[in-house]
Order: sequence, then C-alpha cells, then structure tokens
Amino acid sequence: MAASSATLGASPPEDERRPKPLTITLLGTGTPAPSLERAGSGYLIEVGGDVIVMDHGPDAHRRLLESGHRAVDVTHVFLTHLHYDHFMDYGRLVLQRWDQGAAKIPELEVYGPPPIARITEQLFGEDGVYGPDIRARIRHQSSIDTFAARGGKPPRPRPAPRVKEIHAGDVVEGKGWKITAGTAVHVQPYLECLAFRLDCADGSVCYTGDSGASDSIVELARGCDVLIHMNHHFSGTEPSAAYRAACGNHKDNALTAKRARVKTLVLTHLLAQIDQPGVREQIVHEIQQVFDGRVIWGEDLMRITVAAGKVSGIESRGA
Ligand SMILES: [Zn+2]
Repeated sequence: MAASSATLGASPPEDERRPKPLTITLLGTGTPAPSLERAGSGYLIEVGGDVIVMDHGPDAHRRLLESGHRAVDVTHVFLTHLHYDHFMDYGRLVLQRWDQGAAKIPELEVYGPPPIARITEQLFGEDGVYGPDIRARIRHQSSIDTFAARGGKPPRPRPAPRVKEIHAGDVVEGKGWKITAGTAVHVQPYLECLAFRLDCADGSVCYTGDSGASDSIVELARGCDVLIHMNHHFSGTEPSAAYRAACGNHKDNALTAKRARVKTLVLTHLLAQIDQPGVREQIVHEIQQVFDGRVIWGEDLMRITVAAGKVSGIESRGA
C-alpha cells in the first residue's frame, strides 16, 4: 500500500508547509468608464494567513471569484477613497460574506476615510438600504433554514463589519504585516483620499489609490518593491491643469517611480483611449527613459508574487 499525505500522523506536503509569498492580484484595473475588459478598481493582497482587499469597485467582486477566492476568504478591506468606481462592490462583499459565512467566521475588518462608518450604517443598519432584506433573512423560516444548513446556530446576527475610519499617517498592524496610510492628491476637499503601503517579511507594495504626482506619494512609496499607480492619461492630453493635478499622467508616474526608487511600477486605472496597441508600448517606453526599474501594464487578474524583496512571478489571466 502506497503511503499518502492523507495518512494519519503524516506531515503535510512540502508546499502546504512553506509559507505563501506575498501575492498581489489585480482585480480591477479600469476607470469609471464602462468596460468588460477592466473592472472598477480592486486589488487583492494575500499575506500570511490574511486576505486583504484594497478598494472594491464595480465588477471587482466578480474578479475576486474568478481569482479563485470567495467573500468568506476576505479578512480585511482597505478603501482609499469613496469614489464609486473604488467601492461599489463593497455592499456585495459584506452581504455575501455575511450570508455564506453563517456567523462562523470573524467579522470583516474595514478601514477607510470618513464617512465610511456612516455609509456602512446606511447600507446595513436597521433603516439602511439593505435593512428590509436583512430583516427578512433573519426572520423568515426559509432563510433561517438556509442559515442552519450552512452550520449557523439561530438566532441569526446582523452583518456587523468592524469599521475604523483612518487618515493619512495611521498605521494598521496585522499578523506579519503593516499597512501605512498616506495622502493621495486627488479630489480634495470633497473626498479624503488615501494611499496605502503594505510592508511584510517578503517585501513591500504601495497602492496609490487615485493620485496625481506628489511628494507625499514619493515619501510613502520610498524603496517599495511594487508601486501600483493610476495611469489615467497620456501626458499632454489632460483636459486641464486641475485634471492633471488630480490624476497625473504617464510622465508624472515615471518621475514618481524614479524619485521613490521603487523596483517595479504597475500601471493601472487605464482608460480605453490609451489601452491601445502602439500607445501602450509608447507609454512604457517613455517611462523607461526616466525610470530604470520594471514597468508592467496592468490587467485584470494579473497575479504578482513577491518573495525576499523581489518580484518572483507575474502571471496573466489565462497564463
Ligand atoms: Zn477617484
């Protein structure tokens, strides 16, 4: 009889024992413009035993499912700013996690700028948008049956994500990772806009949210292994100086990556106008004239692994 890893008392197979490297999956690399190719902003970071979502725009949740994860796998959400293309699927994530989790998993931990606490209450509170649905699912016998079938013990609790409003300068520490919030320069004073940097033993990744060029982003991203940066415009095509200040352009991004001395620059938040053969190559080429690290044209479901301070793998969808 052949020995197998299922044998009682046997050690787990080699790859189950090895800690997973820091893994970043681009869930949504699009903009508010409708697109079937690029979902609204969303990024999935697997670090240690935690699964962190940064932003969760329209269709990002579908990409989460396509990446092989489910809402119940997600432990933390970090929102950079409350433009809808960055958090429209937040409601879906919270409700699906609540429904499928059947009160057997810890509450979702949510971090973002104000008024995310009020918005969460307005979505899931007694008088919230989903209040009637939640009441029905807690009280109707058919829903109680489903809850019990999933292993829940009635009475069923309400969804209760643990929301903490944060600001630039705040630091959140998890099991083997640390996330620092910085200032993104975007649409202030109407929205508070944050960028996030994650540090762990494998390396570091900075996600700018939406931001034009700024010293604050350079500071936050300093020396990062991976910088994920909005690349909304081909330089010179911005409609106004205010637009450039809020969203930047590809030459601004080249300078930011160079000044911050990051190793890899991932371009995201890509408009269809620049997502064209020839234009893509020109943008990457022109960035490389200024920045001597690696430049990656992001795409939905691209997976980037970082180990020992180096990008150790890049997989595209279908690869
Ligand atoms: Zn925005």
